[in-house]
Amino acid sequence: MSNSVDSIKNIINGFSVRRDVPLYELTSFRIGGPASYVWEVSDPDSLCKLTDLARLHKIPFVLLGRGTNVLADDKGYSGLLIRFDRPLHPPVFSGETVRACAGTSLTQLARETVENGLMGMECLCGIPGSVGGACAMNAGAYGAEIAQILKRVRVYENGTDRWMNVEAGMLGYRRSIFSFPDRIVLEAEFVLQQDDGFAKERMLDCLRRRKEKQPLEFPSAGSVFKRPEGHFAGALIEQCGLKGMRIGGAAVSEKHAGFIVNLGGATERDVTELIRTIQETVCREKHVQLECEIKRLEELQCTF
Ligand SMILES: Cc1cc2nc3c(=O)[nH]c(=O)nc-3n(C[C@H](O)[C@H](O)[C@H](O)COP(=O)(O)OP(=O)(O)OC[C@H]3O[C@@H](n4cnc5c(N)ncnc54)[C@H](O)[C@@H]3O)c2cc1C
Repeated sequence: MSNSVDSIKNIINGFSVRRDVPLYELTSFRIGGPASYVWEVSDPDSLCKLTDLARLHKIPFVLLGRGTNVLADDKGYSGLLIRFDRPLHPPVFSGETVRACAGTSLTQLARETVENGLMGMECLCGIPGSVGGACAMNAGAYGAEIAQILKRVRVYENGTDRWMNVEAGMLGYRRSIFSFPDRIVLEAEFVLQQDDGFAKERMLDCLRRRKEKQPLEFPSAGSVFKRPEGHFAGALIEQCGLKGMRIGGAAVSEKHAGFIVNLGGATERDVTELIRTIQETVCREKHVQLECEIKRLEELQCTF
């Protein structure tokens, strides 16, 4: 790694990179040791330039949006972490279409679409990620998901910056082809509809339901597991008597058993152990294999 570190020092010249930033400050779980090099970016052109340089010099790097779906290692991350979590410019509205930078807050965008007399995104309000992260994960809630409204995506891939039209099969349940390290989402264009007069009401109702059902008072990364076919992960975990189970600072939420919350000082080891216990118990008692929705930061790393 020392060669990589020297190379990082060379390539980051001219980019305002921060050193040794605790990952607990950069992730919604509030877990993780220091990231050696962190670069927070809004400008797609600089982002493309830096990732080209990183690839050229074979520097390990990861890309995050707002870090609301990741679990970071207690030891930290010794490569370059790029956080693409701020927009270069506000969303651009044109009729029923809206184009937004990948770094835009999804919640903020959803609010603005409603303010602009549109519907289709209101139920995504409250998801704490970025537009780029939401496209990568095909984020969804209350019957709505990104795939239903995504029209085109501006991606950076193999040195090429281009718009891709969305076609059938490109996005599925909590997955999409618009995901790092294969592709970097730079911008996204959504097609919505004229408000039927109830979009704001639906948005407020979704926000109220989130507050009621989700443990928003504690740090977390949202639902830990994907929804297994024909079941709800939270219900299975609750039926196995695991609600409230605690390992170190991590616990299965009392409010929503699909969430693991950081009660204070939780480590990646605590969360990993809890996940393993949940998976084993649910498999043994319910014969259902729970698959993680949250991603481990080190597994995202770009390989060469
Ligand atoms: C309290 C809470 C509630 C939540 N509720 C929901 C919910 O209702 N529905 C839901 O679907 N999710 C939910 N989530 C999870 C999370 O907010 C979403 O998955 C969100 O879309 C992740 O966005 P992000 O910017 O935080 O991505 P990150 O967590 O930073 O990254 C997630 C993945 O996306 C990739 N990625 C990020 N940006 C880009 C980009 N520009 N280009 C390519 N790949 C990129 C990363 O490499 C990583 O693989 C919740 C999380 C929390 C903490």
